[in-house]
Amino acid sequence: MVGTAVGAVLEGIRGALVTVEADVGRGLPQFHIVGLPDSAVNESKLRIRSAIRQCGLEFPNQRITVNLSPASVRKRGAGLDLAIAVAILRAAGVLPGSETPLGFAAELSLSGALVAVPEAVNLAIALAAEGIEHLVVARAQAVTCVPVPNLTWHLYSHLADLIRDLRAGGGPRRPYPPPPIPAGDSEVSLDDVLGQEAVKRALVIAAAGHHHILLVGPPGCGKTMLAERLHTLLPDLSPADALEVHAIHLAGGSRQPTLRPPLRMPHHSVGQAGLIGGGSPPAPGEVTLAHRGVLVLDEMLEFRRAALEALREPLVHGAVHLTRAGRSVTYPAAFLLVGTLNPCPCGQSGFGTCTCPQAAVQRYWSHLSGPLLDRIDMVIPVLPEHGRAVLPAGPRASVLRQAVVTARDALAHRPADAATRTRPADFTLAAHRRLQLAAERLPLSQRGRQAIARLARTLSALDGADAVDARHIDEAIAHRTTGLPQGR
Ligand SMILES: [Zn+2]
Repeated sequence: MVGTAVGAVLEGIRGALVTVEADVGRGLPQFHIVGLPDSAVNESKLRIRSAIRQCGLEFPNQRITVNLSPASVRKRGAGLDLAIAVAILRAAGVLPGSETPLGFAAELSLSGALVAVPEAVNLAIALAAEGIEHLVVARAQAVTCVPVPNLTWHLYSHLADLIRDLRAGGGPRRPYPPPPIPAGDSEVSLDDVLGQEAVKRALVIAAAGHHHILLVGPPGCGKTMLAERLHTLLPDLSPADALEVHAIHLAGGSRQPTLRPPLRMPHHSVGQAGLIGGGSPPAPGEVTLAHRGVLVLDEMLEFRRAALEALREPLVHGAVHLTRAGRSVTYPAAFLLVGTLNPCPCGQSGFGTCTCPQAAVQRYWSHLSGPLLDRIDMVIPVLPEHGRAVLPAGPRASVLRQAVVTARDALAHRPADAATRTRPADFTLAAHRRLQLAAERLPLSQRGRQAIARLARTLSALDGADAVDARHIDEAIAHRTTGLPQGR
């Protein structure tokens, strides 16, 4: 007789549904698991045999074959223990088949206790996407459960309790509604930075229109502190987006569930695999861990050139394609980039007395390739605040954040493409002409022209204007280029 049960395994950052089939039949007592199991799955035989006996049940003294499908997915870890045990008990006639779409994700101890699996949320998301409405996990899993749409968690401490409920019919009966993902709070604020109103305005533009930004300034000007605070301007994520981000972080490390967008700040010694992702199975890199949040690259030119070049794909597409051992996966990587750098090796070019030979400055900047620089919408100079005339205090961080939210709402109702040769509906004739003129006079790539148009659109939204005017084009051109040294 054949019994089945549904489980899931983690593949990279996503869960994959696994159907467990158990065949219990005549023959010498044997227990085989087929379908690409790893050693942890193979060891589950010992745990399952012991756990079933601990429930006071006879372990079938027959030939048992367990098949895990699809066979193409490598089954890692012990999270299939419970699904395999249920499939065997169904095959042996101990448990009825399930009428409700039901999945299992737990390890079993020798005593029959259910043990939590770290990636349960990822598995739950995958199972819910396949129409599985109920998922049985260990009671200890409660602290890690978050709400997953169209899925009910059921918490059990021991296999015996689950067997009793399933035998009674009607499926599991220990539903657990987890608390919603908490809003969370940022520990830092732009209010921590005195002055620097022009840079703060640039960060508001970056956050409102999702414009990648470079902050260029001499050492000690505060550019790192400003860069670290860009993410505080981003609004909270929707619960669905927060769930997606949370699952990525469960697979790639850990992070408490929160509605706040992620902030990643890798050290410049990070390699290409660490930044972009890689390994087998492919682990998410910093760009994926920063998905829907901010990636800060402090002292950007200290990063390896190959790693920086590999940013080009996610900067444009919001995703990375990783290929390893013939398998390719696509991971989300829609982050907002903020990089900081000194203007030259001595750090003073354009700000103080630069002692670098011109060739050294050019070599320094050549570390950032033209195509990469082309994908960064704003290059903003950061002047040291000390020694400058004290300006009246600018708007508070909370006001800036509200401006971002308002502009984002306005932009959501604008047409998407601003870079066409014909005039977009929300561009005035003057703005359109100014952009065409700029494209003729400046060394602008097609991408550069698009960036200026998008930037101008964000500026008009922040202005509360319905249309892009010529002054928005001028301001956009200034934001794109003023932080660059001569000749770039
Ligand atoms: Zn210098």
